Amino acid sequence: MKQDYYEILGISKGASAAEIKKAYRKKAIQYHPDKNPDDEKAEEMFKKAAEAYEVLSDDDKRARYDQYGHAAFENGGFGGGGFGGGMNMDDIFSQFGDIFGGAFGGGGGFSGFGGGGRQRRVKGSSLKIRLKLTLEEIANGVEKKVKVRRKVQAPGVTYKTCETCNGSGQMTRITNTILGRMQTSTTCSTCGGAGQVMDKRPAGADGQGMLTKEETVSIKIPAGVVEGMQLKVSGKGNEAPGNGISGDLLVVIEEKEHEALKREGDNLHYDLYISFSEAALGTSKEIDTVTGKVRIKIESGVQSGKILRLRGKGIPSVNGYGKGDLLVHINVWTPKTLTKEQKTFFEKMAEEENFVPNPEKSDKSFFEKVKDMFS
Ligand SMILES: [Zn+2]
Repeated sequence: MKQDYYEILGISKGASAAEIKKAYRKKAIQYHPDKNPDDEKAEEMFKKAAEAYEVLSDDDKRARYDQYGHAAFENGGFGGGGFGGGMNMDDIFSQFGDIFGGAFGGGGGFSGFGGGGRQRRVKGSSLKIRLKLTLEEIANGVEKKVKVRRKVQAPGVTYKTCETCNGSGQMTRITNTILGRMQTSTTCSTCGGAGQVMDKRPAGADGQGMLTKEETVSIKIPAGVVEGMQLKVSGKGNEAPGNGISGDLLVVIEEKEHEALKREGDNLHYDLYISFSEAALGTSKEIDTVTGKVRIKIESGVQSGKILRLRGKGIPSVNGYGKGDLLVHINVWTPKTLTKEQKTFFEKMAEEENFVPNPEKSDKSFFEKVKDMFS
């Protein structure tokens, strides 16, 4: 059962607009997160009070609430999900920030609250690199060292609080409108939102006290990555000036083509060519896999187009669930030219019963096999 809005604010049903505002201000200050750090109960109360105020401070919403109670706002009463899930802290500050006036902090008021941190921190920009990997590296996972040119704070640089915005990074403007006081915030143009400006600039540093440095970054690539996949190395992008936090290094995976193996998802395909005689007599052949060469046995009487499945010899799933297979496609090589002697031999064999095609059910056609593989 949802708590009554009047009860939340501790006021009577007949409270005036001024009384509602005063009651909300009192609750908001009492439960404010700055005063109750890491107190979930206080945060809950703070949100509840904001929700109650949102409704009771609006004549139309208040009238509907008085008539229908909480039901007035269910099932899309106002804006559906807009309110039902409760408000988040940023919403509360952006909507009602002005009601707190100078209750907290210095001139900065609340503007520095965004995102839950006490102070606004600017994040450095991301760097993006492309990384080419062999199929073997992808199959087994690999640690790669890459050189990146990233912006870092120059040694000896110091920063001071921006005087334009008092360190909040935001410029807040309050205007009086017919609907009450409106608060708008824009990024401080002096510090670009960082809340800090450079105090001492070392030689060679840019206007933000940064210089570009080449660094070697070690990146662990998990097995099973896919071409185009983007991995994030936190904090290895450009550093931010002042007390900002470093950006990320984004690594885009590229796959080098393998000379013998073709990848299809987690499965690998290998084309194996054998001669007429090998097909007829049976043989053993060495083939490439991502973990080295293996020798496989080919039974006598094998048909061209047969697919041998080597279970688990494919690529591990990047999610860690199982491994693909290696599918070996048998291709019987037909000679393109024949000597006189060979020609005579085959002409003689053409009459032989064994040489007349007679596919059995187990010798499925290529299309049936493909169908089987994907079913
Ligand atoms: Zn500033």
